[in-house]
Amino acid sequence: MSNEKKHMQDTVLIGGGVIGLATGWQLLRRGFRVTILERESAETSAGWFAAGMLAPHAEAGFEEFGALQLGLKSLEMYPEFLGQLREDSGHDVRLDRRGAMMIGFGRDDEERLQRLYDFRRQLDLHVEWLTASEAIDREPLLSPKVTCAIWLPGDSQVNNRLLIRALVVAVRARGGTLLENTPVTSVVVGGGRVSSVVTGDKRLDASNVVLAAGCWSNQIEGLPDSDQPPVRPVKGQIVSLLMDKHSVPQHVIRAPDVYLLPKDDGRMLVGATQEEMGFDTTPTAGPVMRLLQRAWEAMPCIYDLPIESIDVGLRPGSRDHNPIIGRGNLENLYHASGHHRGGILLAPVTAFGIAEMVAGGTVPVELEPFSPSRFAPAPHVAGGGR
Ligand SMILES: Cc1cc2nc3c(=O)[nH]c(=O)nc-3n(C[C@H](O)[C@H](O)[C@H](O)COP(=O)(O)OP(=O)(O)OC[C@H]3O[C@@H](n4cnc5c(N)ncnc54)[C@H](O)[C@@H]3O)c2cc1C
Repeated sequence: MSNEKKHMQDTVLIGGGVIGLATGWQLLRRGFRVTILERESAETSAGWFAAGMLAPHAEAGFEEFGALQLGLKSLEMYPEFLGQLREDSGHDVRLDRRGAMMIGFGRDDEERLQRLYDFRRQLDLHVEWLTASEAIDREPLLSPKVTCAIWLPGDSQVNNRLLIRALVVAVRARGGTLLENTPVTSVVVGGGRVSSVVTGDKRLDASNVVLAAGCWSNQIEGLPDSDQPPVRPVKGQIVSLLMDKHSVPQHVIRAPDVYLLPKDDGRMLVGATQEEMGFDTTPTAGPVMRLLQRAWEAMPCIYDLPIESIDVGLRPGSRDHNPIIGRGNLENLYHASGHHRGGILLAPVTAFGIAEMVAGGTVPVELEPFSPSRFAPAPHVAGGGR
């Protein structure tokens, strides 16, 4: 089918969280007609409750080079992404580049931070070792019990709520259709393609379909097993405190088991738990108590701050914790899920990448390792059953 013909039919996106919105918007910028079907609203999606850190340097795990490269690439794309968003939405979502500090208390943390520091140096990432007094000079609100820190000037953050609001405006400004409170129940498949998407008693014909339903992406009826991404919910509880003028940290602070970050709307976020609790979204006392305890140990001034809210989001975790981005087994089905802890960071690389794949059929090199095909069923192992 020629590209021109493809443009005449709708590309349908299932899910209007940050990934569905960003991808739909980029498809609109390339001339596609786009309909985004969202079960509830973007303001109840995981991205709404996220912290908004763009932290490939801090999050780089040992042996996770592909994920690190992807995160760095996406961070590099952020200025262009936000520039286009400003043009289309009128919202100025600021990239806060003030960096992040990882802090430690005592010998055990020092050894751990030293390993993290050495690993980042080996990868040529910009990282600095700070003594306790250097750390406190840079961030005077830190506890005097801090004994060491590493400084990651490359990490950034955005106001993820403003980002999501801007994406909604941009999608509509570009002529896209965003239907909220519109759950997709199933898809109709035939001849190796998705021919339509079903919501309630409506059937929408689709030239291309993007599956961006976060941790619910494998719950759409009609998808063959081979196109059901292995995603699951990873519960994250996060506390939002209201800062006063004496308690505004200058940077993102990452302490053992907790992070604290100031947002430009007056909130300080203390997060986040990572819990395997299925689809449960109940805030619970124990995990929140631990977060606050750890945050208070890092920054004692939070003790008197009012709690604005305790929020819960469900991260879409995949089997290997890496995102699932690319064409599926069905000819016109594209996957964009499994972004786990990094969906805000990875929104640009996902959106630009899927738009390029749908428009031109080419897979950007940085996305190659994240293809859904890596989850092909394992071959039968002879004699393996016991
Ligand atoms: C506490 C917390 C902190 C986080 N902090 C960060 C951070 O600092 N930086 C970062 O990069 N990432 C962070 N994340 C992760 C980030 O929020 C996720 O990776 C990102 O939101 C994934 O986006 P998504 O659009 O794929 O999924 P979601 O945000 O979950 O959106 C999926 C959407 O699909 C809709 N949907 C589901 N089923 C259907 C259906 N059948 N039909 C129609 N619509 C459907 C849902 O209603 C939802 O709106 C955090 C997450 C949490 C919970």
